[in-house]
Amino acid sequence: MPTLMIKCKTCGEVFGGLYVDEDSNPKLRVSATNTNTLHMCSRGHNNEYVLEDYMDWS
Ligand SMILES: [Zn+2]
Repeated sequence: MPTLMIKCKTCGEVFGGLYVDEDSNPKLRVSATNTNTLHMCSRGHNNEYVLEDYMDWS
């Protein structure tokens, strides 16, 4: 399953942001449902992410 990764804006840690279905366009899915979303890295830094912050590593 493709994964969209995001990078912590505080410490630079890369972690998984979203998991998407293979038969859908990940960016469209993100755009439709998860823009401007808060994510917390494993160190507890909370940052807000927009579509451009997601990296498609699939
Ligand atoms: Zn962090």
